[in-house]
This record gives sequence, structure tokens and C-alpha cells, in this order.
Amino acid sequence: MKKYDVIVVGAGNGGLSAAAYFARAGKKVLVLEKHNLPGGCATSFVRGRFEFEATLHELCQMGDGKNEVGRVGAVRQLLDGYGLNVDWVAVEEAFRTIVYDPEKGYDVTMPVGIKEFTAAMEKEVPGSGKFVQCVLEYGRMLCDGVEWLAAHNNEPGPLAKIEMLLKYGDLMKVVPKSTNEMLDRIGLPEKAKYIFESYWDYISANSDQMSFAVYCFMTYTYLTQKPWIAREKSHEISMAFDDAIRKMGGDIWYNTEVDRIDIKDGRVKGVHLKYGQYIECENVMCNLMPTVVFGRMVDPAEVPEREKKLISARIIGQNCFTLYLGLDIPYEQLGFKAYDTFVRFTGDNVKQYESFGSLDTHRDYCVTIINEVIPDCSPEGTCMVQFAKFYTDDAFRDVTEEEYFKLKDRIAREIVEHFEKITGIDLQSHIEELVVASPVTWARYLGTPQGDVYGYSPAGWDGMFPRVQSGHKLDHTVQGLRFCGGHGTQMDGYSQAYLSGAEQARYMLEEM
Ligand SMILES: Cc1cc2nc3c(=O)[nH]c(=O)nc-3n(C[C@H](O)[C@H](O)[C@H](O)COP(=O)(O)OP(=O)(O)OC[C@H]3O[C@@H](n4cnc5c(N)ncnc54)[C@H](O)[C@@H]3O)c2cc1C
Repeated sequence: MKKYDVIVVGAGNGGLSAAAYFARAGKKVLVLEKHNLPGGCATSFVRGRFEFEATLHELCQMGDGKNEVGRVGAVRQLLDGYGLNVDWVAVEEAFRTIVYDPEKGYDVTMPVGIKEFTAAMEKEVPGSGKFVQCVLEYGRMLCDGVEWLAAHNNEPGPLAKIEMLLKYGDLMKVVPKSTNEMLDRIGLPEKAKYIFESYWDYISANSDQMSFAVYCFMTYTYLTQKPWIAREKSHEISMAFDDAIRKMGGDIWYNTEVDRIDIKDGRVKGVHLKYGQYIECENVMCNLMPTVVFGRMVDPAEVPEREKKLISARIIGQNCFTLYLGLDIPYEQLGFKAYDTFVRFTGDNVKQYESFGSLDTHRDYCVTIINEVIPDCSPEGTCMVQFAKFYTDDAFRDVTEEEYFKLKDRIAREIVEHFEKITGIDLQSHIEELVVASPVTWARYLGTPQGDVYGYSPAGWDGMFPRVQSGHKLDHTVQGLRFCGGHGTQMDGYSQAYLSGAEQARYMLEEM
């Protein structure tokens, strides 16, 4: 059998990016994926005449350079560098937020662009504009800082650190601060703060827990570089990876589940496949969470102490109930205009977060309608509406097999009815296709604990900056074994998984 320099376990976004990085560097790489197609979350599926996007609402750091800051996004540079052939489409609005609280409610659509966003906020919350400008100025500095770090390859040496402190010392001071703490210090009025924080559940932490630096960087990047999607859905991106990896000499085996990772004396030796085959290899890049690998796929005697501590200390990120509707009316007839909408019972995301642990609170969800951006993404005369409702805990843990199907139906029905009630729109008479993916579906499909789709929730000691600092050496506990994906140093999400794949592949190449 061909001898490989490196095996990548899992063809999710992180694994595909790592594999492309290795292949481009001339390494013999083999990707092992348990499903019959690439992408993990980055996929689509067909029901009747509809092809549903499974996950992607927006990609970050994808600016094409034709924007007010003239910056080509780091993720676009990375993906272009792999030679991916994808038809990218920009989303021209930031978000719509509907808070249906009878006293403090609002319904606001926020545009992309710094000037446009600031003006829209000033209109919605008079007097807030100058504070928003101040927050976004931090965003600009954070982007410069991150760009500088990337250009210096995140060098661990003392000289780079000193230079970084001299240039970005003030920024380092805001890194440990929470989003709420910084926005309160800046003086953003409460309503403007809540609107600004609308994207919060992309980070899997509320604004008391979430690093201001990470949140502000993400929001500033969306506003200046726009959110992006792929015309043929995220499956197009994953298939473009498949094509690029093979063209660069890499191999991908689908329908190939890895059962165990063979480690002896602190060094990787190879992988066991589910149906008995053993592949020898000294370098394994895992697109699976360390909790899964060290919890189930490795000889317990070989699990390093640090990994045991990390498994206990880390909080599994949000899981998700997704509802996909194919409607027999065109988007224009739906009477609801927006691409991505956050529906909330309160603007205060600390309260929203508290309610996310229960199976009985289906009052906060995201609604995505791709037809707003790509009108012909569904057959003529139809449109697709997708709901995503997040849970912070293992909400489905105690659900029995008998209860499961009824529960799925109940949650789906309650979400639809709730949306109908607050908007006055009739969805139910127009449903042609309806598909549900519960946390149980996600757990089975991805193999993640609790059906987690967002990696590990960030914490003060476990946010992006601490992870980046320890991701090179400290969290590299087994020789020849590295991890990449939405659970990695860069946090969750498509762009972060792509970046993490490249980052960890680079570290592994240094070691090889
Ligand atoms: C509903 C929803 C909406 C989202 N929307 C967005 C969005 O708009 N923007 C955004 O940036 N992010 C979004 N995300 C998050 C994003 O999809 C994930 O953070 C990201 O795709 C995770 O990528 P990953 O590299 O960790 O791989 P995963 O997607 O977790 O893939 C892991 C891969 O490993 C494979 N695998 C698992 N076990 C084995 C094994 N033993 N052997 C072989 N293969 C194995 C799996 O089959 C899978 O292909 C969304 C997620 C969800 C669920």
C-alpha cells in the first residue's frame, strides 16, 4: 500500500483545509471520511424538488478587496491559495433583529458598511452614533493587530512579542475584557448594545462571557468585508476542496470511518479503520474534537494528563435544532424580507443564554432565507425558510426513544407557530417539504458529544487568544497528533475551521 506522510481524519472544513495545505506543500496526504461526501457541516441535502443548505448562513473574512477598507479577507486569500473554484456571493445586509418584548421590543434591519451601520443605529437609537464609531474604531485596530500577527506567522519568539506589545499594547489590554464590560465602559446605550450584540450566538457564549476582542473583530469584519456564501451552497465549497486536493496529489477515501488512533509511548503510529484495516502513519491530523479522540479512540493509558484536564474543564459548545422548510410560494409572496433574522424574546443575551438550556423555550431562533440573496436557489415559484434554534446544554439527554419523535414534532410545530404569531405570516398552508435535524441528528452525523456544532464554548482561560498562544506547543501533547476544526484555536465557524486547518498543518509541517 502507498505510504502516506500524513493522514487527515475527517473531511469537515478544518480537515479539508489541512489536507489542501499538506498537498500543496508536496506531502502525500490521505483523508479518511466516514460519510460518502465531504464537508461535515458544510453540505446540502435534497428533499423533493428542494436542495437545502445544511448550515452556511455567512462566511467571515471573505472580503474581495472592493470594500471601504480595501482588504482582501484572510479566508478568501487562503481558499484562493488552494485554487478552489467557487462562485462566491456577497450578502448585502448585516442582519435583521426582531425583539418581540411588548415594552422594549424592536424590529431593525442593519446594513453592512461602517457609515451605513452607524447611521442606521443613530436612527434607531438617537445619540448612539458616536459610541458606535468608537466601538468600530476598536474593530479597526483589532483587524490591524490580527493582520500583523498573521503576517508575522504568530511567531512565538520574544522579539515578536515585544514588537507586538509596542504596537498593540492597548489592544492587549482589551483582550481579557468581556463584550458587555467594554460596551458599557464605552457608554453604548442599552438598546444599541443589544442590537450590536445580535450576532452573539455565533460565538457560543453570552456577552458577559464573550471576549470583546473576538466579538468586535468578527462584527467589524462582517461590516467591512460583508458576509459571503457560495452560489451552489456549501456543498460547492466542499466539492471544490475535493477537486483541489486530488489535483494536488492527495487521496480521499469516503465511507471510511476511523475507529482508533494508535499511540505508543506518546507518539502516533497509525490508525485502525472501523472494518479492521490498519494504516501505519507517523502524522495524524484530527478534524474530530479532542474530547472524542481521547475519550473513545485512544488507549486510555496513552491519554496525556493535560488532555484529561482539558476534557474535564472545557464546556461543550451549543447544539442545534434545525428546521428546513420548502414552501410552494415565491419569496416575494411570503411577506417577510430579510436574509438572516434573529428572533428574540429580549435584547439581553445573558437572559437569552440562560433560557437556552430548556426544551420548553422555543422563543429565540435564527431565520435564514437564501432566496433573498440568491433568488433562484429553489425552483421557480418556491422559496426555502430555515430555522436554527440553539441549546446551551445537553437538552436532549433525558429524552427516551419513545418520546423523541413526538418531541421533534412539537418543537418544529412550536417554532413555526411562534413565527406565524409574531409576523402574521401563514407558513403552514405552504409547506411542501419539512426536514428536522435535532441535536441527536447532528451527534450522529458529525460524531460530536451532545450534537455540538460549535466546538468548545469560550471561557476567559480558553478563548481565542489563550488558545492561539497554547496551540503551537502546550496543547500538542502527543507527537505526530494535531487537531483542527471549529473546536480549535480560532474558535467555531467555517472560516475559523479553515484557518485552524491551515494553522495546524503549518505547525505539523514544521515538525515533520
Ligand atoms: C445549523 C448550523 C448553522 C451554522 N451556520 C454557520 C454559519 O453561517 N457560518 C459559520 O461560519 N459557521 C456556521 N456553523 C458552524 C460551522 O458549520 C462549524 O463550526 C464548522 O463547519 C465545523 O467544522 P469542523 O472542521 O469542525 O468539522 P465538522 O463539520 O465537525 O466535520 C467533521 C468531519 O469528520 C467526520 N468524522 C467524524 N468522525 C469520524 C471518524 N471516526 N472517521 C472519519 N471521519 C469522521 C464527519 O463525518 C465530518 O465530515 C453552523 C453550524 C450549524 C449546525
